[in-house]
Amino acid sequence: MSDFYAAIFGAGISGLSMANQLQQRGKSVLLIDPFRADPEAPGPPAAMVNPSAGRKGNLVWESEKCLNAFRSNIDKLAEASGRDDLFNATGVLRPAITEELAENFKQSLEEQPWPEGWVDWLEPDEIEEINPGIAENYGGYFIKPGLTVFVDNYLNTFRNVLTDNGLTFTGLKTEYEFMESDFVLTDEEGKTSTAEHVIVCAGADTPGFDDWAELGIQRVKGQVAIFKTEHDLPWVHGLSALGYILRRKPNELIVGSTYEHHFEDVDITEEAYNRLFGKLEKILPEISKNVKKTGQLAGVRATAPNHLPVLGRHRNNPQLLVYSAMGSKGLIYSEYMASILADHLTAGSDIPKELDTERIYHRLRKKGKIE
Ligand SMILES: Cc1cc2nc3c(=O)[nH]c(=O)nc-3n(C[C@H](O)[C@H](O)[C@H](O)COP(=O)(O)OP(=O)(O)OC[C@H]3O[C@@H](n4cnc5c(N)ncnc54)[C@H](O)[C@@H]3O)c2cc1C
Repeated sequence: MSDFYAAIFGAGISGLSMANQLQQRGKSVLLIDPFRADPEAPGPPAAMVNPSAGRKGNLVWESEKCLNAFRSNIDKLAEASGRDDLFNATGVLRPAITEELAENFKQSLEEQPWPEGWVDWLEPDEIEEINPGIAENYGGYFIKPGLTVFVDNYLNTFRNVLTDNGLTFTGLKTEYEFMESDFVLTDEEGKTSTAEHVIVCAGADTPGFDDWAELGIQRVKGQVAIFKTEHDLPWVHGLSALGYILRRKPNELIVGSTYEHHFEDVDITEEAYNRLFGKLEKILPEISKNVKKTGQLAGVRATAPNHLPVLGRHRNNPQLLVYSAMGSKGLIYSEYMASILADHLTAGSDIPKELDTERIYHRLRKKGKIE
């Protein structure tokens, strides 16, 4: 018998959710992440759980199930840890700053299956009332269950709660090799253990794993800037317009994000800062006149061609799995996607076709790139 049911590579948003879902099903898990070895490591300051996407404002895949799964888990983490600094249930405002956006948003509210009670249309004066100083707009909508998540606190607390419940974590660089019936894991100190399954949850580093390079997961760099405002802000919700603006403290705003498809390094740049400041100026013109930059961060997201996560088994080894390509919606997708993969592994349920690795293998076979 193997030492672990699963070894998960990557202790980011996906890897933690995967470990959680397997732990809930009574499975033993080894979580490996040499780049987040310190459980109190700083991470991204804040990110948004927003069930709508892009300029059309359409709902993301299975938004209700995804959002409910995320919310229920973060509530449990807050309760288990006694911490009240993991998230704010403050809603998300999507102001339409052009007529075209207003039309798109109204169409989304009419045609998309918005769950009962999730969303209200607001007229420009109502938007100004809840968000003083906002740019001239054509109305917009307020998504009540939207969240602001303090990602560093969330990741660190999640891992602590899982380890308290029996998860084994290692910050040592580890390699895996399949031998007969299970994987042999060898860490950089030469210590070995075995696992029945390996699940790669390495986000934008997934293409660096030889087994997964052929999936064609794309890497997209993004940057956020942090600003101190002159006065405390009289609202708490997140803003989603030309990117996002989140309030972490009463006088601190996180402005994100850029999308850079061609990049050589993951350094912060002046050009991205100028773009982020430009977004702030457009959405909060008065407030932007008196802000001070206090930080800037860069990261890389992983995306697949249909902009949906990729979950499933490797075509040559059903005990090797992947869970990646969360794009810009990692938080909202994390828990529900992990539950789909955990059910598939432990109970044999199907992975929806639009998410399964098989969708990519099918395309590669048609192009003659794999057998
Ligand atoms: C600028 C920016 C802003 C964003 N804003 C939002 C937002 O507002 N809301 C939202 O939901 N999402 C947002 N995202 C997207 C979100 O960050 C991703 O969807 C999410 O991080 C994906 O989680 P993941 O666990 O798959 O990957 P990651 O978070 O990248 O985690 C992967 C982990 O794998 C580890 N790893 C890598 N290689 C190995 C290895 N060989 N062995 C073991 N471990 C390894 C890494 O150290 C890392 O900890 C944003 C992304 C960026 C870049």
